[in-house]
Amino acid sequence: MAPNSIHWFRKGLRLHDNPALQEAVRGADTVRCVYFLDPWFAGSSNLGVNRWRFLLQCLDDLDSNLRKLNSRLFVKYFSLKYRYQSLNMEWKISRLTFEYDSEPFGKERDAAIKKLAMEAGVEVIVKISHTLYNLDKIIELNGGQPPLTYKRFQTLISRMDPPEMPVETLSNTIMGSCVTPVSEDHGDKYGVPSLEELGFDIEGLPSAVWPGGETEALTRIERHLERKAWVANFERPRMNANSLLASPTGLSPYLRFGCLSCHLFYFKLTDLYRKVKKTSTPPLSLYGQLLWREFFYTAATNNPRFDKMEGNPICVRIPWDKNPEALAKWAEAKTGFPWIDAIMTQLRQEGWIHHLARHAVACFLTRGDLWISWEEGHEGVFEELLLDADWSVNAGSWMWLSCSSFFQQFFHCYCPVGFGRRTDPNGDFIRRYLPILRGFPAKYIYDPWNAPDSVQAAAKCIIGVHYPKPMVNHAEASRLNIERMKQIYQQLSRYRGLGLLASVPSTHNGNGNGMAYSPGEQQSGTNTPAPAVSGGSSGKRSGSILLKFDSEKQQGPSGIQQQQQHSRIYKCNVSHDMTAGHLLHSGGSVTGKRARESERDLDGEDDTLSTSHKLQRQIAEVTSIHSGKQSIALKRSY
Ligand SMILES: Cc1cc2nc3c(=O)[nH]c(=O)nc-3n(C[C@H](O)[C@H](O)[C@H](O)COP(=O)(O)OP(=O)(O)OC[C@H]3O[C@@H](n4cnc5c(N)ncnc54)[C@H](O)[C@@H]3O)c2cc1C
Repeated sequence: MAPNSIHWFRKGLRLHDNPALQEAVRGADTVRCVYFLDPWFAGSSNLGVNRWRFLLQCLDDLDSNLRKLNSRLFVKYFSLKYRYQSLNMEWKISRLTFEYDSEPFGKERDAAIKKLAMEAGVEVIVKISHTLYNLDKIIELNGGQPPLTYKRFQTLISRMDPPEMPVETLSNTIMGSCVTPVSEDHGDKYGVPSLEELGFDIEGLPSAVWPGGETEALTRIERHLERKAWVANFERPRMNANSLLASPTGLSPYLRFGCLSCHLFYFKLTDLYRKVKKTSTPPLSLYGQLLWREFFYTAATNNPRFDKMEGNPICVRIPWDKNPEALAKWAEAKTGFPWIDAIMTQLRQEGWIHHLARHAVACFLTRGDLWISWEEGHEGVFEELLLDADWSVNAGSWMWLSCSSFFQQFFHCYCPVGFGRRTDPNGDFIRRYLPILRGFPAKYIYDPWNAPDSVQAAAKCIIGVHYPKPMVNHAEASRLNIERMKQIYQQLSRYRGLGLLASVPSTHNGNGNGMAYSPGEQQSGTNTPAPAVSGGSSGKRSGSILLKFDSEKQQGPSGIQQQQQHSRIYKCNVSHDMTAGHLLHSGGSVTGKRARESERDLDGEDDTLSTSHKLQRQIAEVTSIHSGKQSIALKRSY
């Protein structure tokens, strides 16, 4: 008997290149495409309204594309497990298909559903299509451990078969005789809800800057590829004032929700490259951004604690401060640094910020200025507000940026004044997102606290009254934090006994204005000096610094108001429990060592190891990815 299928949509919200969906219709009598929605999450989860709207738009688009095939989307509510059971009774299904989810909680959820289905005699077909590669194969090739350097990752995938070609878009021909039973009251029973129906107050909600859906994604990919110069040079464009703004060619939310297939993107890039360069083998670097995504997915797939510091074997346990007020100022764009506040405003309003803008605000929150844990930024804020928030990529990038894992030069950090000024000298980005500062001339827009009273009065914005004074003394805070980070890394290197002290810089310029290379980054750092301001203890922790604003002026990045820099070096007290043993997570030395040795064997790069690679290896050596359990979190399927 021909099967009755359900295709369960989670990510992969598209009809193009959807191998699991194709399996659902293959030889089937009926197919129902289902999306489970838990309205409870609308009111209680940390998913912001922009993300919900994007999701609902994706579902609407999916439904309208299915209608063209005389099918519909079935949006169902409540818990997956019970729904699945009731669906089976209601629709007598005999085949269940879905896209493979590589995230640890997704795997756990899917295993439970698979068990239920199989017990009921339902065939389950799962296909990999959210990633380019089978991540388990990469790990297997690496001796059972995920590669923790991008270089190593590239080495591994260069030995694998190229990613599979995208499959055909679902069409009437592919549907064949397979039909979707649609009742008259389908809209009432299974229609895509509106934001209001989910309990959101949408009064005053501006229209979406990033419209969700496959149709939009396919338009964008064409525009994206039209930028032939970029493809020809296989380089990312450098950041400039324009690239800070939402671009009609931006793809990340679409890749995140799977409205756009990464395989399609990959092969379109390959095609275009061949046309432009007239050679048949594009370099791996052409796919750079897509591969970074893949790298983080691989690192996270067996690590349910990937988004946590505690219990996360690849994350250094840094004794971050708890400082809810400072966190709130950062999250609510009230730091007093226009560059940081403009970025955070853009994030809240539109749900997307440029890669290097993410660097700027992540560095400011963590190792640069506030010394607050990356978890707070990742889970509390980015996950709520970013349309492209992706568990693996987000957590991986935050660990990276905060020097908690992978590779990052802790002695470089971003200046919250100079970096922005260099990118957008006129300050148009700030004026757009912080209209209160619109009246400031370019000279002061990044450090308005340095503007003379007359300039502030003319701008109709008195700093400290209409816009906050800077919440920290960047020069001092970053100096202190670099020192703290240095001590942490020194502890780590002592612990491993590898004599890495020599390669940890014993001095640094301390002005906190350097920048580090990181995933996707092409631009070198600003050399503009950080503002010099007075220091004072916040009383919250030893050595934390707040501005004594009234008594001293800060040095502008252009050096307009050179003020005396404090020569006082804040003593950086490493807290008592910050021994090396506390910085790392125990266990797994045998497998870790094996991983390390296999890296060395295969890479042949040991003689030229950078400090960071060595440190990263030390971390890998004393740790191992464990596969602990985590309860199923439905929200992850959004
Ligand atoms: C602190 C921090 C958090 C981040 N969180 C996320 C996140 O949750 N989700 C996310 O997709 N990206 C994240 N990124 C990576 C990157 O900033 C975004 O992917 C990029 O800004 C998206 O812009 P775009 O669409 O123009 O991508 P493009 O530059 O055109 O790249 C194409 C695609 O490649 C992938 N990609 C690009 N850069 C990276 C990168 N550095 N690492 C991994 N994948 C990449 C994305 O899927 C992107 O859509 C984060 C970066 C930082 C520093």
